[in-house]
Amino acid sequence: MEKQRLLYSGKAKDVYATDDPSLCVVHFRDSATAFNAQKKGEIAGKGELNNSISTHFFKLLESNGVETHLVRQLGAREMLVRRLEIIKVEVVVRNITAGSLSKRLGVPEGQPLPTPVLEYYYKDDALGDPLVNDSHILTFGWASADELNVIAGTAVRVNEILLSALSALNLLLVDFKLEFGRYAGRVILGDEISPDTCRLWDAKTHEKLDKDRFRRDLGGVAEAYQEIYRRLQGGQANV
Ligand code: UDP
Repeated sequence: MEKQRLLYSGKAKDVYATDDPSLCVVHFRDSATAFNAQKKGEIAGKGELNNSISTHFFKLLESNGVETHLVRQLGAREMLVRRLEIIKVEVVVRNITAGSLSKRLGVPEGQPLPTPVLEYYYKDDALGDPLVNDSHILTFGWASADELNVIAGTAVRVNEILLSALSALNLLLVDFKLEFGRYAGRVILGDEISPDTCRLWDAKTHEKLDKDRFRRDLGGVAEAYQEIYRRLQGGQANV
């Protein structure tokens, strides 16, 4: 497999073509952005940590029957993945109130939700990724009804698998974002699962161990990502 031209440069990752048109290479950078890229910075070592953490979660999901784009980790900052046709919808699953949900609905952060909340956002930087519902997704043709069923069912299943694995590591999975894409006629999980895309709190102290440390200038950002990596390495992998 040979890495070829840069296809796309995102806020924290670059994507390269390979000599196999069905595969690409994702390169994880240290760059961090927040608030629709209005805040920018670097988190030393984040690229390596997010690559390893995402690889760990994707392997865990695959071993529990969830298909992901992961082929294999290539090196410290790179992952070989299936080349998806990205669906322009971000899926957020919430177990505990936080972030934009708290702001939008005026509820304090940290309240456990009786049942997980599923939200969809239209992936469009210029619009600031607006919140949308099933009806918008179907009407504008961003995904078909069948695809949306797969997306919702998979998001709920991913939540169950991650909740179970993380609670064994004394971590609360507050919320997280997923992205899906089309591959060989199927809808599979893409992007990454890392402290950039999840809210993770220590179960006992509720210390934030995710990108909120960067968003809210709490300090100890790299240390928080390292702590997640450390727990995953020491912890059990299967549900
Ligand atoms: N999230 C993400 N990318 C985005 C927006 C949100 O990975 O563009 C993640 C975020 O890290 C959190 C969850 O999705 O784990 C819910 O984020 P929220 O809607 O609360 O937005 P925020 O307050 O983070 O802007």
